[in-house]
Amino acid sequence: MKSYISLWPEKAQLPDFPRAISILGATGSIGTSALKVIRKHPELFTVTALAGGHNGTKLAELCTEFRPQFAAVLTNQARTDLMANLPTDYTPEILVGPEAYVELARLDTVDLVLSSIVGAAGFEPTLAAAKAGKMIGLANKESLVLGGHIIRETCQKSGAIILPVDSEHNALFQGLMGHIEHSEKALSRLILTASGGPFRGKDTEFLSTVTRKQALAHPNWSMGAKISIDSATLMNKGLELIEACHLYGMPPSKVDVVVHAQSIVHSLVEYTDGSQLAHLGTPDMQIPIAHCLCFPDRVTVDVPQLNLAHVGTLTFEEPDATAFPCLQLARDAYAASPSHPIVLNAANEVAVAAFLDETIRFLDIPAIIESALERHSTVDVTTSDAVLSLDQQVRREALSTL
Ligand code: NAD
Ligand code: MG
Repeated sequence: MKSYISLWPEKAQLPDFPRAISILGATGSIGTSALKVIRKHPELFTVTALAGGHNGTKLAELCTEFRPQFAAVLTNQARTDLMANLPTDYTPEILVGPEAYVELARLDTVDLVLSSIVGAAGFEPTLAAAKAGKMIGLANKESLVLGGHIIRETCQKSGAIILPVDSEHNALFQGLMGHIEHSEKALSRLILTASGGPFRGKDTEFLSTVTRKQALAHPNWSMGAKISIDSATLMNKGLELIEACHLYGMPPSKVDVVVHAQSIVHSLVEYTDGSQLAHLGTPDMQIPIAHCLCFPDRVTVDVPQLNLAHVGTLTFEEPDATAFPCLQLARDAYAASPSHPIVLNAANEVAVAAFLDETIRFLDIPAIIESALERHSTVDVTTSDAVLSLDQQVRREALSTL
């Protein structure tokens, strides 16, 4: 298969069906949507491993239904909850702790890893899947923000394939597919769409008093708490800009963002002749998830087909850089050096967690990130240890400023 994207290694081979899948983050929003796709097409998958973080009870429910051979949780308490809720006729092998995620990512018997953990915790398991040459459905954008340079190189060596689950990047993948085989020079720009989040059109004065509840109320997508806050600050689009640069080998100057409130157009690829190819669909993550897990096949999903006449109007506007500075912070961080995005991400995770705990205000989020970036001088992050050590250092420093 010709290289559609820069993360498609020469020696990549897609696994046959049924594909043995390991889902890291099975209990989250993306994990749950993926299991809906698998439930509808059981003949295409063998669920080999499910990981469920702190939620042993929900993981037990999923294990009872899908009967994976392996299950992983983060804590002993979650293991107790998991074991207490399993049926007597079934005993999975249970692994505990962050290392368990790395194990589930590189199991010999697994073909396909869905990386749907939230945050920097996704970096090591995603890298492990890349080293093991797996087909990877990547929802965890933070792993590319931290170490896209390392993951790319690892995939080239191992033959691992990354398929982008993030709806915008999946849209770009589809807009690139079949169009850049003859000349990558034909590609002129990637255009990410952004819903604008719950505070689209609001000014800084309004944002200074918004609550956790208001920030979590995304108008179009149902998602986990962290990405919902990232969408409200527009940091989600900043992380996605960096993700797009890594996935498609584009400089940030060739990745633009347009606010599109309806979330129907999921992104666009622009070619040098002026053509822009858009991907449209009902805003439901089952669509890009099914595209990745079943690629190159297309399968049905339980999502209503898009009816443009019912949608009526599609609108587009420039992002407001004054009220939402996070997008520019991310753009500048990526342009500055490979270590700056790690700082951006770590400070953001600390700030978002503090906002969710209601210990800081909404506008403190960009301020905390900006001051972490100002304190940072470029360091070498060519190894995964260096990436993780910088991540931890920035977290400690950012926490101490709260
Ligand atoms: P979520 O909060 O709903 O679920 C997160 C999952 O990660 C849970 O299964 C949880 O157990 C697990 N987890 C949390 N912390 C962990 C840790 N330290 N170690 C191991 N596992 C841990 O999040 P989500 O909305 O499903 O998002 C997951 C990822 O997908 C994020 O990177 C997000 O940016 C990305 N994404 C989500 C959506 C969406 O619609 N939800 C869309 C595009 C991309
Ligand atoms: Mg997205």
